[in-house]
Amino acid sequence: MQIISCDICKKKMDDPINDLNFFYIGGHGICEACKDNIDYSIKPTVRNKEPFAMDWYHKLLSDSLDKASQKGKA
Ligand SMILES: [Zn+2]
Repeated sequence: MQIISCDICKKKMDDPINDLNFFYIGGHGICEACKDNIDYSIKPTVRNKEPFAMDWYHKLLSDSLDKASQKGKA
């Protein structure tokens, strides 16, 4: 069985397929706590973006995930 852990905090996921607290975003697998931290950290930027663009948002999200997984902290 493949062991999957959160890209950011390295928390092990026992059951990533059925675990609804695990998310795949922009090529990263992250746990709910890290996803919340990312959402929170990009929220001010997202709110100031006019007009809102989905492509831009996905880019921002995946950049933030790349950065957080390198730091090991969201
Ligand atoms: Zn995590």
